[in-house]
Order: sequence, then structure tokens, then C-alpha cells
Amino acid sequence: MDIKPLSKGACHCGNVEFELSLPNGLEDLRRCDCSMCSRRGAIVASVPLKGLKITKGEHSLSLYQFNTMTAKHYFCSNCGIYTHHQRRSNPKQFAFNVACLEDIEPYKLGPVPVLDGTSHPADKDGYDPDNNIDYSVSGHG
Ligand SMILES: [Zn+2]
Repeated sequence: MDIKPLSKGACHCGNVEFELSLPNGLEDLRRCDCSMCSRRGAIVASVPLKGLKITKGEHSLSLYQFNTMTAKHYFCSNCGIYTHHQRRSNPKQFAFNVACLEDIEPYKLGPVPVLDGTSHPADKDGYDPDNNIDYSVSGHG
């Protein structure tokens, strides 16, 4: 799948639009199994903070925080779609909802590794995403 170096994204209702700088495509593509992400079920990728710019509707974004209150989870206050969050394991990065990107069909991305949201194995050396895919819980065929 071709990813534009400058990609546009939006929530479902279109109130919120954003621009992503993705010179290397979708980096760190994953699902996360933390209590938040497992509920919303989003596939995410990472960008440096400066790689994501809200171009429209910043006032429409709501902020949700929990637990350590480190991560900042943003979603559209109108349609409820999760757009992006500032990461707990790397606060210098945003993760964003890949399905919000223009021209992306998230179900064609193939198997996406599941990240252990508690111990963050992706932040350690020797991380092998193939060992972290749990097909038994994804269950959407
Ligand atoms: Zn919306």
C-alpha cells in the first residue's frame, strides 16, 4: 500500500482534519492490548510530535486520560472517532488511527502485531512482532 509522505486524515464526521508527515510510511504499525486500545480496536502507527498537525477542528477534539495520566487520548467530540494520542511509553511521539487516513483500507494491511501495552516490548531490543500476534483474540476474520 502506497503511503504518501504527506498524508491527510480525518475523523468520521469531518469536523477534525489532520496532516501527517510520513517520510518512511507507516512506522511501528500495531494494535495495542491495553485496556483503552483493546476497547477501541484501532490500528495505530507512530510519528514524532512534530509529524502530526491538526489542520481543522482542534476545538472539536476531546481529551481522555486515565491511569498514570501520561498518555493523552484525543477523539472527536461529535462523532467519537479516536484520531490520535500522545504515547505513554514515548511522549515524544503521537500514535494515530491508521483508519483515519485518506486512501487507507485498514483491513488490507495484513496481520498487524499486537503490542503488549503493559510491558511495551517494542521499546526493548530484540522485539519480534511475529511472536506477539494473538489471532485468537482478533476474531474478526
Ligand atoms: Zn468527527
